[in-house]
Amino acid sequence: MKKQQGKAKGGSKKSEIFLTIFLTITIFASITCSAIFALKPEFDTLGFLLSRFVDYGSEYQADYGRVCYGTIFGCEKITPEYDDVAVDTKTLGQQDIIFSFKHNDESIELKQTVFVVDKTAPMITVEKEEATICPGGKIANFGLKVEDDYDGELTEKATINYHEEDQKVIISVLDSNENSATYILPAKSGDTEPPVITLNGEEHVSIYQNNWYGDAGATVVDNCDEVELVTTGSVNTNAVGTYEITYSATDNSGNAASVKRTVEVKQPQRASGTIYLTFDDGPGQYTARLLDILKKYNVKATFFVTGKGDDSLILREYNEGHTVALHTFSHDYGYVYQSEKNYFDDLYRIQDRVKRITGVAPTLIRFPGGSSNTISANYDGGQRIMSKLVKSVQEKGFTYFDWNISSGDAGGATTSDAVFNNVVRSLKNGGSSVVLQHDIKGFSVDAVERIIQYALNRGYTFAPLTASSFAAHHGVNN
Ligand code: ZN
Repeated sequence: MKKQQGKAKGGSKKSEIFLTIFLTITIFASITCSAIFALKPEFDTLGFLLSRFVDYGSEYQADYGRVCYGTIFGCEKITPEYDDVAVDTKTLGQQDIIFSFKHNDESIELKQTVFVVDKTAPMITVEKEEATICPGGKIANFGLKVEDDYDGELTEKATINYHEEDQKVIISVLDSNENSATYILPAKSGDTEPPVITLNGEEHVSIYQNNWYGDAGATVVDNCDEVELVTTGSVNTNAVGTYEITYSATDNSGNAASVKRTVEVKQPQRASGTIYLTFDDGPGQYTARLLDILKKYNVKATFFVTGKGDDSLILREYNEGHTVALHTFSHDYGYVYQSEKNYFDDLYRIQDRVKRITGVAPTLIRFPGGSSNTISANYDGGQRIMSKLVKSVQEKGFTYFDWNISSGDAGGATTSDAVFNNVVRSLKNGGSSVVLQHDIKGFSVDAVERIIQYALNRGYTFAPLTASSFAAHHGVNN
């Protein structure tokens, strides 16, 4: 970065001359008057500065010259009691300020006129050592910046002229107070600078086999020409290996540049374990779509159904090899958790429904809210109904299931991405994953295909729940 401060012109010269004349008169008058009023003691104000120039934006320092009290035989210097001597140096123009001087009971106020003037020239900086004159005459960008203390950025106001005879570029600029600055930059004809290519995204990218790869591309700029970026190479996401993508560009003068990106396609991390996808609260309007996805991957899941939805969906679940299990008919906390009788009335009602549709009466169940729910305490009159139910359901031949991975689709997660992330980051490598989702939530159903692909790629297997499966019990809190 080169810097060059322009020479100041305008107001400053005038002010110096004015000041010199003023001081000369002051000194001359001082001598004459002192002689006349020599004998009576009084303020001698002839040394007081009636006016001054102050630089725009500078730190103001009071300066009043000299005032004394006395006679020709002796005059005591008086310092002012600063009354009103603040000067706003960020405002150009004239400002009057008052100094007051005191001697015993006598006092005097003197007015000084301060002129705030801008005599600082703009600052020109350039980034390049020399300017390039492109074929065709355009002056290539050389990183010009012009800043002025008063006007701020003045880069756009600069005049740039190429002087071919002495191979120079002359930059000149004038600020709004007539201060000028000039900068002379050596210049050469002909473009020897290649285009500059900048990668979007990382230089080294790694992905797992079979995952999607989207190239982020690159951007190109050239000092003289509009150039085109050419991209070569591709990534085969199905095959493990390291791939190169090359971005290149050539300008009109034949200067070429190229930048590479490497993309590593890695073997997926291997995992093992069984995933039990479970869907509560259906069937509903997204259940058919979910069944299609499960069928596509031959994945079997478990549905904890309610009294809602079409019979045909429950039949399809059953016929396609999924486990149809029970969640209660009404899913009404206030009813089912009021008493054991209510709970079982409701549970048998949904069991009857499923038996009517499929011919089989399921015995796998899931409590609304899970066995650990505390919401039941709001309705059970203090009888700790969950503690009773976990015993009595088993006595009646039911097997209850909770979950050890929550997709969050009933609360915190509201997008398919969030559901996907919640599930895949919690998968139990080497163990059993019982995943809670709801097939009455479209965004949750939308995450299922990605969850299946992710898990199959890593070596997990899927299974429907059976009476002997891992039950993922939570522990009872009411
Ligand atoms: Zn539920």
